[in-house]
Amino acid sequence: MLGLMFAPPLQAALNRIKTAAARLLDLVYPPCCLGCREAVAAHGGLCVDCWSEMGFIERPFCERLGTPFERDFEAPGMISLEAAAHPPVFARARAVARYDGATARGLANRLKYYDRLELAEPMGRWMARAGAELLQDADLVVPTPLHRLCGWRRGASTSRRRWRG
Ligand SMILES: [Zn+2]
Repeated sequence: MLGLMFAPPLQAALNRIKTAAARLLDLVYPPCCLGCREAVAAHGGLCVDCWSEMGFIERPFCERLGTPFERDFEAPGMISLEAAAHPPVFARARAVARYDGATARGLANRLKYYDRLELAEPMGRWMARAGAELLQDADLVVPTPLHRLCGWRRGASTSRRRWRG
């Protein structure tokens, strides 16, 4: 994102005004959990309960499918039995969280079907973190467009909005 550059004293004054405006806005719209709307310390975060229920996927996981292993086999590059038995057409996939958790499923559904665009930025950050090693090797990132009929039904393509800017 491009920002305007001002002389240091003016920039400092603008930063103080921005901070004051953000605090004032927090009084009107206090930060709340993305999952359950409980009060939290900062915008775009989860409360402790939702965070622990989220089911974020961390290593160890299948290097091909990205599905978590129950235990660490301490064998880098290991793939799951499912990936070995039914190799997917893609080389590697990663996901932020298990979809079977109520919080992760609820957030994905709210963004996808209910146009809750305030979720796009934090979920985009989680996706960038989960897919960091894939993005590092990528030449190009292309959002998957919706079928026109689905986009018309939903009002817009969330993938297009997620990757804009
Ligand atoms: Zn919560």
